Amino acid sequence: MTTIRHNGVRRQRTADRRKKGSESDAHDFTAVVSGIRGEVRFKAPLRDFTSFRIGGPADVLVVPADVDDLCSLVRQARTAKVPIFVLGGTNLLVRDRGIRGVVVSLSKLSAIQDEPHGVVYAEGGIGMPTLMRHAISRSLAGLEWAAGIPGTVAGCVVMNAGTRLGEMRDAVKAVRMVDPLGHIVDCPASAIQFSYRRARLPRGIVVGVWLQLKSASRERIQTVVKEYLRYRKDTQPLTLPNAGCVFKNPEHEVSGRLIEAAGLKGARIGDAQVSEKHANFIVNLGRARASDVIALIKKVGRTVEEQAGITLELELKIVGQP
Ligand SMILES: Cc1cc2nc3c(=O)[nH]c(=O)nc-3n(C[C@H](O)[C@H](O)[C@H](O)COP(=O)(O)OP(=O)(O)OC[C@H]3O[C@@H](n4cnc5c(N)ncnc54)[C@H](O)[C@@H]3O)c2cc1C
Repeated sequence: MTTIRHNGVRRQRTADRRKKGSESDAHDFTAVVSGIRGEVRFKAPLRDFTSFRIGGPADVLVVPADVDDLCSLVRQARTAKVPIFVLGGTNLLVRDRGIRGVVVSLSKLSAIQDEPHGVVYAEGGIGMPTLMRHAISRSLAGLEWAAGIPGTVAGCVVMNAGTRLGEMRDAVKAVRMVDPLGHIVDCPASAIQFSYRRARLPRGIVVGVWLQLKSASRERIQTVVKEYLRYRKDTQPLTLPNAGCVFKNPEHEVSGRLIEAAGLKGARIGDAQVSEKHANFIVNLGRARASDVIALIKKVGRTVEEQAGITLELELKIVGQP
């Protein structure tokens, strides 16, 4: 009798809390985006913002007009206790129920400035391909390793993006961030701990990066870039939506090789498939759901562990409401 009554009370309390939560959410979002000059969309499907073309809605999607607009958003979200998530969208799997709170795209932060002695300042929302074209046009070397990486400059810092030719930490001189209080702070590279596909930064949002590049022959830079783009085209499934490599490479091993050796190339759950071209890529054949991708990731991880005794670690970030 007592148990039943307790359960009933608990259920009612949970329902009340949920109701209260959704009411305050609706109220908070309006306050959070009040006066924001950039783009604001409610219930924005995040599949439109990810290279995987997968993902449920953001409660609110904001594309701030500039850094000051972002500072206002951060302050207002803090006051309203609403979480902010920033995306570029190319190393992400957003779950089917989407992301609660505010999702920010920095696509309007897209200025590039040349400074003396080979230093380039790039705003955080710039795509790596655009930055690379800029560097080539100025005959500046130092980013060739990134040819074909589609992420934003900021996302590449946060992930310490890299290839066998180099990684982001090789070029970063300093970053500009908006801290959790909504203030702009600059942080030298020496204060950032870079490791394999990871950078430990102060808390906040990266809004700009100073890169130290060096003068070189434009033809030579172009040759390296073209070769690397050709290599990607030959080895990666670039015609289907994907989010780059799913797993990090274990020490002294290559995840793609382990997955292929486990007989998983072409393995499929729903419309999510282990690429036939590169086993460390999962591709969206059309209508894949995040749940399909997650089930396939689990299957791959389990099979490789059983067959090779190696636990694969995710490179892909899985985010959103479970
Ligand atoms: C075809 C393809 C090829 C790829 N090849 C490579 C490769 O060779 N090497 C490689 O390293 N990666 C590769 N990637 C993955 C991806 O492009 C990189 O990891 C990139 O660094 C992610 O940048 P993003 O802007 O898309 O960030 P997202 O994937 O959106 O985010 C990654 C993380 O960074 C955070 N973040 C993003 N922006 C900010 C910001 N402004 N401030 C604070 N946090 C932020 C996010 O919240 C998230 O936690 C590839 C992806 C694809 C689709």
